[in-house]
Formats: sequence, structure tokens, C-alpha cells
Amino acid sequence: MLFGTHLDWPEYAASLGLLVLAWIAVATVQDDERGQRRTVTGALVFLAALGLARNAAGGSLTAIGVVVLLPVLFVALHVRNQLGLWLSLAALAAFYLVPLLLIGGRDYPASDYRPALLTAAISAIAGLVTHRLVDDVRSRADQAQRRELMLTRISETVSELYLSADPRRAACRATLEITQAQAVALYEPEPGSGRLVMTTTTGTPDSIAAGVPARAGSAPDTALRTRRPQLIGDNVAEHVGSLELWQADGCPPSVLYQPLLKGDQAIGVLVVSWADRATMDGPRVAGAKLLAHEIAAVIDRVDVLERLTDEALTDSLTGLPNRRAWDAALAGVLGDGDQRVAVAVLDLDHFKAFNDQHGHPVGDLLLRETAAAWRAQLRAGDLLARIGGEEFALLLYERDADSARRLAERLQACVPRGQTCSVGLADSVPDEQPQRLVARADAALYEAKARGRNRVVTAQPPDAL
Ligand code: GH3
Ligand code: MG
Ligand code: MG
Repeated sequence: MLFGTHLDWPEYAASLGLLVLAWIAVATVQDDERGQRRTVTGALVFLAALGLARNAAGGSLTAIGVVVLLPVLFVALHVRNQLGLWLSLAALAAFYLVPLLLIGGRDYPASDYRPALLTAAISAIAGLVTHRLVDDVRSRADQAQRRELMLTRISETVSELYLSADPRRAACRATLEITQAQAVALYEPEPGSGRLVMTTTTGTPDSIAAGVPARAGSAPDTALRTRRPQLIGDNVAEHVGSLELWQADGCPPSVLYQPLLKGDQAIGVLVVSWADRATMDGPRVAGAKLLAHEIAAVIDRVDVLERLTDEALTDSLTGLPNRRAWDAALAGVLGDGDQRVAVAVLDLDHFKAFNDQHGHPVGDLLLRETAAAWRAQLRAGDLLARIGGEEFALLLYERDADSARRLAERLQACVPRGQTCSVGLADSVPDEQPQRLVARADAALYEAKARGRNRVVTAQPPDAL
């Protein structure tokens, strides 16, 4: 016999029936609340089935101990809340104690109390330890998944920032969403005075917040000077840059001041406020730091472009940055070292013949129209300059070789008035000097001309030159 020497058939059949039910309940473990309840119910039914099977056979046999532990372990493994585990432990205790209390006699003698209690205690320990371990693993997996999601969002956001008309605001909004913050703001040194002032915030309207200076010695001030992040969780009011703005945001209890670094220079401070306590090694702070890195690059780029609208640096015919501006921008960007850029040099084909045929003024018009048509294809962070008579240059940031090539081909295809152009394209390699990168693009342009014009040629890598 299964558990004993004699058998009570009706109880035995009922037990088998319950076993089938228990199996159905736990066979499909599901993560939602209903599924979890079903798992616990299944475990309890399984214990009841065992109870009946044992009673059908009589006696509290020791071999059954391992089988009784199964539903407890099953619940510990699959059910998230502790209540389910305690319920199954209670059922397990009942499994041992109820027959001793209610039936007793020869089948369930009082001498069985000690092993029964011992087994219940050991099962409880095994169940609780397993539950704790699984919980730990599960929360680590959850955290890893959250980090991964955040990384995906960050990389999506970065390309959106370059497209935005107001990258500072877009950056703050993106940080707010990705780090689940209550408010996000930017402090930047004011041109001229050098005072650290708020430039953008998602909280208080700009009309009030913009230009509010950070107090000397406050956390944003320290973050900028030391170039180290400051996470404030205690006595926040004493550390914030502006008490009024912090109060206007609803006195968030933890605030991160993350310096925006360009190389080893701090160009601003990203302020992220949370409605609860954030920790330095938590995913939200990690996300804010990653974003700060990208935001620094975007702000720097936008500022470079803004400076280039200066007259001395603008070509009067096309309104594009001129050769001087181009040289300055190129030197500044590549001086950064770790930035990946691509350079394209574009030259109209047979422009001399076009001038000869249509006259110089129409030639000028074509230059203007070409500049406008090309500019319409670019993102906010791309730099297009006129570097010679009918020669243009393009500086692209953070584009992979394929997307740079596709853009170059789009430009090649949209020269107005049925004219064509040739393009030389070069992707920077780490630590490449600007002159070298442009020389590679020039060589590629030369090749494009030699191969019949109206085409894009990608430059050889530097060691192949
Ligand atoms: P390729 O296909 O080899 O580039 O031939 P191309 O005729 O375009 O090149 P080339 O260098 O022989 O001639 C460039 C011409 O561009 C000569 C010059 O008159 C004309 N050009 C330079 N600057 C201007 C300008 O500002 N306006 C006009 N209308 N023409 C200009
Ligand atoms: Mg030409
Ligand atoms: Mg030329």
C-alpha cells in the first residue's frame, strides 16, 4: 500500500481526486494575483489530499515528511507574497497535529508530537529560506530589467534631443520621465558674470525660475566647482541652490546635483529631485548620470552652433557658417577626443559651366538654394558650412557610418535646378586630428570627381592612405 498497511477506500479515492485538483491548480504557474492565489490553493489542496491519503492508510509515517514539504517549497518558489507561504506552513502544521489532537489512539500516539513539531519547524525554515532566496533573485532580476529599459529609453532620447528645437527643455523633460523624478532643472554659468543660474526647469515656470542664481556654497555650486555629483537626502533646505524654487517644487526630500562635464570642464549642473529617498547606487541616480553625460554633449553642441551665427563667422551669400567658423568648430569638437564624428565635403559638379551658361547671378542663386535644400535635411546638431566657392562641408555628430552615408546620399540627390554634386565622406577614428579627417574626406571627394562625379565616396581608413 501507498502509506500504511490497511486502506480506507473512500478516503483514498477522495485523496486521489484532490491530488488531481491540486495538480490542475499548480500546473500552470502564473504571475498575476489570481494565478498566485491558485498556486497557494493548489498547495493547500495537495496537503489535504496527503492528509486523507495518510488517514486512509493510518499512522504518521516518517517517509511522508518529504512529500509534505513539496507544496511548501513549491509555494516558496512561485508565490511572491509571504501570506501564501504562511498559509501553506500552517496547513503543514495542521497536517501533523490535527490527527494527533482529534484522532490519537494507536494510529496517532502522543509520542508522535515531538517528530511532528520538529518536521513542521524544519519545513518552516526550509520554506522561509527558500522564499527569501527566491525573493532576492527575483528583485535582482527586476532591477536588471528596469536598468535595461532605462538604457533603451536613454539611447532613444539622445537622438530625439538633437532633433529638438529646445534641447535644454527636451533634456529636462526626458530626465523627468526616465528617472521618475518630481522635477528636473539645469543650472549653467551665466555668460559674462559667470554666476551659476537656473536656465531651464520642468517645475516652476521659466518666467520665475530662469536666471535665479544658485547660492554660494550650495550643493549645485559645489557640484560645479568639484565636478562631483552631490546627492542630498538630509537637511535638503540647507543645500539647495534656491530655497524658493525648491519649496515651489513641493520640497522634494532628495535632490541630485549632477555636474555636466565636457572633458574635465563642468559646463552646468543637472538637478533631479525625487519625491522619495534616492540612493547613490540606485538605478534612478545611475540613469540621471548617464543622461547628464548626453545632455552635456547636446548643450555644448547647440552652444557651438549658436556662437557660429556671429556675423564674422557667417557666409553672407548662403547664411551658412563660413570657413573660419568651420575650422573653429572642427578644432573644438575633435579636441574632445572621445567624440565620434563624420565629415563630408560636398562640391557642385561643373559649376563653372553652369555659371558660363546661366550667368553669375543665377550661379549665386543656385548656391543659396543648394544651401537651403541641404539645411532642410539636417538635424539641429549637424553643422553645414560653406568653405569655398561651390564647396561645402558637413560635420555630423554621433552618426554611425551607415546613417552618415544615407544622409550624404540624400544631400547628393537634392541639389536644385537639375544640377549634381560629388561628396567625399569620412568617419573619424579615435584621436584623429581634424586636418587628417578633412584630408581623408577631401581625398574621397577627389575620387568621386575622378570616377565621373554625381556620387558619394566613403574615405579609406587612415592607415590605408
Ligand atoms: P568640378 O565638377 O570639377 O567641381 O568642376 P567645377 O566647374 O564645379 O569646378 P571649378 O573649380 O573648375 O570651378 C568652380 C567655379 O565656381 C569657378 C567660379 O567661377 C565659381 N564660383 C566660385 N565662387 C562663386 C560664387 O560665389 N558665385 C558664383 N556664381 N560662382 C562662383
Ligand atoms: Mg565644382
Ligand atoms: Mg570646387
